[in-house]
Amino acid sequence: MSFRLFDAPLREPSQFVGFAGNMIDRQSENRADDSVDKALADPATRLLLMHGGRLYLKLGAGGALDPWFGATESEPFKVSLAQGILLGFSERGPVLAVPAGVEPEQLPEAVKAIDYRSVYMQGLIDEAAAGAMAQGAALLAWHASHRFCSKCGTESQMRAGGYKRHCPNCGTEHFPRTDPVAIMLTATREKCLLGRGRHFAPGMYSALAGFIEPGETIEAAVRRETLEEAGIRLGRVVYHASQPWPFPYSLMIGCFGEPLNDDIQADLNELEDCRWFFRDEVRLMLERTHKDNLVTPPKGAIAHHLIRAWVNSE
Ligand SMILES: [Zn+2]
Repeated sequence: MSFRLFDAPLREPSQFVGFAGNMIDRQSENRADDSVDKALADPATRLLLMHGGRLYLKLGAGGALDPWFGATESEPFKVSLAQGILLGFSERGPVLAVPAGVEPEQLPEAVKAIDYRSVYMQGLIDEAAAGAMAQGAALLAWHASHRFCSKCGTESQMRAGGYKRHCPNCGTEHFPRTDPVAIMLTATREKCLLGRGRHFAPGMYSALAGFIEPGETIEAAVRRETLEEAGIRLGRVVYHASQPWPFPYSLMIGCFGEPLNDDIQADLNELEDCRWFFRDEVRLMLERTHKDNLVTPPKGAIAHHLIRAWVNSE
């Protein structure tokens, strides 16, 4: 008799989402206050340079874009090495994310500053680098918005290679946060529930989503958000996959939900539209051949993978 718990597919669904290709060995147990200095002394160290939600990319031969800078090479870009974060170690050596200070329009011709979302949506860098970007972007955003101790207001100091902040006044230690977001596809064998947010690209419909609140299980958040946004009560809820989402530091937790009622009452403050879609129509949306140009989110998004897994689940 097999053990049902591990009767899962050979490749975890989470391996297919955007930002899942991070290959960095974090070596979290070895982080020390001099980790960044030690890494910077290693000539093999490679840096990701980030500024204002953008990643710097070197334009190479044939239009190839390279996100990796050497420590010396990064000097003209007003980098704050003291604010650098040791992401971990690749096969080629230490990897850091470092805030830079040159505005996009002041960069030399051969360097572009491109926002994280475009870098990932357009597949400008390989999956391992995109994963490293997500890790670095989330950490730099957390440091930028948590400079002062939330207990006593004193300016805190970066420690442990960027994985902690320490308050020199009251001694409190502050750790980087990850905000969990539930994203769920409510579906029966025949149809699934998709909604349109007010800021979505034209024609796009996606799975509903919302922040998981303190004191809530993932399943309870999935049920609450689906009821609040669509008026649909859910029975069974099952986990499918997760995705790091560095806007600024979320973790998307993707689930399927089984509806108990049919009549949608959409929260039109949150959504522009919300309705049931039959499987054949969703397949056309995935293939981008829908007659009204309706589409599902692109391949890097976890919503795409929830929807595709359901379409292929017959
Ligand atoms: Zn303090």
